[in-house]
Amino acid sequence: MVRTRFAPSPTGFLHIGGVRTALYSYALARKHKGAFVLRIEDTDKKREIEGGIKNIVDGLKVFGMKFDEGPGIEGPYKPYIQSKRLKIYQEKAQELIDKGKAYYCFCSEERLKKLRESQQKAKKQPKYDGKCREIKKAEAEKRIKNGEKFVIRLKVPRGEKLILEDVLLGKVSWNSNDVDDQVLLKSDSFPTYHLAVVVDDVLMKISHITRGIEWLASVPKHILLYKAFDYKFPVTAHMPVILDPDGGKLSKRKGAVAVNEFLEQGYLPEATLNFLMLLGWAPKDDREFFSLSEFVKEFSMERLNKASPVFDRQKLLWFNGEYIRKLSKKGFEVKFLTWAKKYLKDKKLLKQLTDDEELVKKLELIQERVSVLSEIPNQLEFFYENMHAPNPKEIKGVKRYEKEDYVKVVSEYAEIIRSYEEDSSKWKHEKWEEDIRSLADKYSWKHGDMFMMIRLVICGSPVSPPLFESMVILGKDEIIRRLGEYK
Ligand code: GLU
Repeated sequence: MVRTRFAPSPTGFLHIGGVRTALYSYALARKHKGAFVLRIEDTDKKREIEGGIKNIVDGLKVFGMKFDEGPGIEGPYKPYIQSKRLKIYQEKAQELIDKGKAYYCFCSEERLKKLRESQQKAKKQPKYDGKCREIKKAEAEKRIKNGEKFVIRLKVPRGEKLILEDVLLGKVSWNSNDVDDQVLLKSDSFPTYHLAVVVDDVLMKISHITRGIEWLASVPKHILLYKAFDYKFPVTAHMPVILDPDGGKLSKRKGAVAVNEFLEQGYLPEATLNFLMLLGWAPKDDREFFSLSEFVKEFSMERLNKASPVFDRQKLLWFNGEYIRKLSKKGFEVKFLTWAKKYLKDKKLLKQLTDDEELVKKLELIQERVSVLSEIPNQLEFFYENMHAPNPKEIKGVKRYEKEDYVKVVSEYAEIIRSYEEDSSKWKHEKWEEDIRSLADKYSWKHGDMFMMIRLVICGSPVSPPLFESMVILGKDEIIRRLGEYK
């Protein structure tokens, strides 16, 4: 049975790269009707952040990645939070001692520090020198009884070839002589990452591991631990790092990296997930859009990319815009109304809101133009605020005319609209368009320039939702007022 896991450490908020790792593990489990496990690796209590675990659990939920076993729902290998499994690691460390695969080490911090320094000076890779390796078990136990502080170290055999067959990296091998006698259990009886991760992956029967390439260096130690526990090494895919378009690893210095930040900026979870699917995996054809369940169907580990993907924020923005335009009516109303109402409240404009229906009409006009939900306030603004037309001299096309020309055409257009009086047959798109065209002809303006000028004055920007539809919503009086104010 395929059993995969996502094993984050709550030392920071859920990272967008973490979601990608989780996604691939999730898809693999679902595709093979296996189990997807969430395990929290929180043995480094000093670095844990408040709310870290909740943030991870909530994050997976937002993206619709339901785990089958994990904190809260538990499962056959519970508990799924490492800090609640300390006894298990201690027992397993003892098992390794009994099997002769690990040993007690009594070296002081001070000795280890000196050792490291002398190795650094000699330009050697810092590594434990094995001083305590040959201490007899009975003697070690006596020292422990006497209250001596100790750690448990992995007894790395000499001269062994350790081989990994990774889905992405192919064959990778190490000579065990280069592998450190890793600390497995610390002097405070907490396990190190290496012991905890292997014990849990073994006990939880994890068959496939997807994780960042930064963990590759740990693999030789893990291979030895798997051998010691007599368990089959899982299939692994060590994912290449995600690069920032400016070079280097994706980092928060260059923009959002925490999932929360993306959601707060108005990225839709489905769009973000779709973007992440393609950030390290390629479908058979050039299809780009996948829902989570479609992705599960298509996913295979063999199609993961070996090369480092670039985190193209423009592409994410594009995906998001596409998903916004495809929102269901209900989805649109919920998402757009939430952002719009917040804006109206912040600006104390909510009193102008008679009902949702009116607001939805405005939002429908801007839906086409919004790429992230956080753009809604900006695009909605002109319906509510007195917009100042930008200087036409700075706008392509209309910049060729003189200020008096603008004022003249704008006030003339106001006159035309005013002359409609209450004649509702004139209060329609075709009529306004016709009027703008004949006004342009009268002054020998290009039609497009005349449309632009009216748009600038009414919407306050050269880019706006469709002019006439916006005019319908603004209403005759407001349009005359805006045109009349242009001086
Ligand atoms: N706890 C590790 C992390 O935070 C897990 C690494 C692994 O998947 O083995 O990424």
